[in-house]
Amino acid sequence: PKPRKNPLQFLDVPRQLDKQPAQQRIQHFHEIYVPFDAATASRQAGRCVDCGNPYCEWQCPVHNFIPDWLKLVQDGKILEAAELSNQTNSLPEICGRICPQDRLCEGACTMNDGLGAVTIGSIEKYITEEAFKLGWKPDLSRVVPTGKKVAVVGAGPAGLACADVLARAGVQAVVFDRYPEIGGLLTFGIPGFKLEKTVVQRRRAIFEGMGIEFRLGVEIGRDIEFESLLADYDAVFLGMGTYKFVQGGFAGEDLPGVTAALPYLVANANRQLGFERNPADFIDMAGKRVVVLGGGDTAMDCNRTAIRQGAAQVSCAYRRDERNMPGSRTEVGNAKDEGVQFLWNRQPLEIVAGPDGRACGVKMVTTELGPPDAKGRRQPQPIPGSEEVIPADAVIIAFGFRPNPPAWFDQFGIATDNNGRVHAPAKAPIAHQTANPKVFAGGDMVRGADLVVTAVYDGRQAAEGILQHLGV
Ligand code: FAD
Ligand code: SF4
Repeated sequence: PKPRKNPLQFLDVPRQLDKQPAQQRIQHFHEIYVPFDAATASRQAGRCVDCGNPYCEWQCPVHNFIPDWLKLVQDGKILEAAELSNQTNSLPEICGRICPQDRLCEGACTMNDGLGAVTIGSIEKYITEEAFKLGWKPDLSRVVPTGKKVAVVGAGPAGLACADVLARAGVQAVVFDRYPEIGGLLTFGIPGFKLEKTVVQRRRAIFEGMGIEFRLGVEIGRDIEFESLLADYDAVFLGMGTYKFVQGGFAGEDLPGVTAALPYLVANANRQLGFERNPADFIDMAGKRVVVLGGGDTAMDCNRTAIRQGAAQVSCAYRRDERNMPGSRTEVGNAKDEGVQFLWNRQPLEIVAGPDGRACGVKMVTTELGPPDAKGRRQPQPIPGSEEVIPADAVIIAFGFRPNPPAWFDQFGIATDNNGRVHAPAKAPIAHQTANPKVFAGGDMVRGADLVVTAVYDGRQAAEGILQHLGV
């Protein structure tokens, strides 16, 4: 690419990322970041110094051509930028919104040392948003149909990315999902204030326009036998996610008033999307004192959902300190701004019942961090005598997820490891192939609970593996 107009622009233009004030944004479930206009996007993109060693590209799990599309945005060439951006990422407008950029591309930006990283995520979102407004669609006019067809189980980011690459290679992809809408956790886990659902629905229309077929409300292994997929299709991709909640193993987890994070978030999403079957599934935190247990992104989403439902108070307890928590710094900051109170170094011992048999508080002990364990993580150690009960009308447990491989995997020779993760190595002779050569897998069910962008990468790589296997 040609040199930048003003390589020292970063000296005059600070990093800019505006969001709605907290008091305004807690009134609704819409996204909170103010989108860039053309002039701001161009100025922000022009802050890239073309450092020559694009660490951002390496840290981006799908290895986006970041400096190249930043340059195109600076020059106002949106359609070219969209072509380039969609070459490496099947969901760029989604990753631009919800990747933890502070640990990925932006964390690796040369400008991160004091001057503020280039706003890579927001510009990635901007490119595809603007291109859609201009009527951009993936151009499949030169694709030659191969006559092959592949079944994709799971319409989450892994399955969608796999179908995207297959469709561009002339392979018919048929995507099955037990849910009534595509997206997996994009639709039924991640709340609207991080990702509005219309964004996922718009991608669905794009994918359908590419010839990808969705069969929704269909559970493989229940409504359709896996055997019939093996018989009817040339290969199968599994992107079924991880859905077994990790439990705390302490007393009181089953009390009324205690809920696991995902059913809480799913019920909220179902109500907003109009998919609610039984109003009793909805868990309303209005007026309640809510205690959220956990320190990851799911805990942050529960905190901020409860705030928006009108909870009287939301406290989030985590057993290590703030520096050692797993959640994205940005999301913790957003939760704090919105009024969530954090109880660091607290380990739950028991959920306590009131006279009515419902949860009325969480007994916790204060911890201090001990020496690092074998993995280098400092383990929290309880301080004797520091026990106290934090009052609560509702408790949400957000300790993460474990793989839940269905029993039928064994029958079809799909091997898993001791943790239940499907064995489908990225670097096998054929990428993401399972122990059954006709079956491929990727995303959370292979890695364990991880990220949208890594699921996208797996799905894309698995599609390449499938193409190699099919010899097309
Ligand atoms: P999933 O998204 O779980 O999709 C799997 C799909 O398979 C589902 O739609 C499911 O219905 C379907 N399925 C399963 N079994 C069957 C079957 N037998 N038949 C038919 N369909 C089936 N990541 C980020 O990068 N940024 C975030 O901000 C972020 N926030 C998160 C917030 C929450 C609350 C949660 C729970 C996760 C979050 N994640 C985030 C993680 C991210 O959502 C996942 O890593 C990602 O969605 C994994 O993609 P996947 O395609 O592997 O699985
Ligand atoms: Fe950054 Fe994620 Fe986009 Fe990669 S996909 S450039 S990590 S926001």
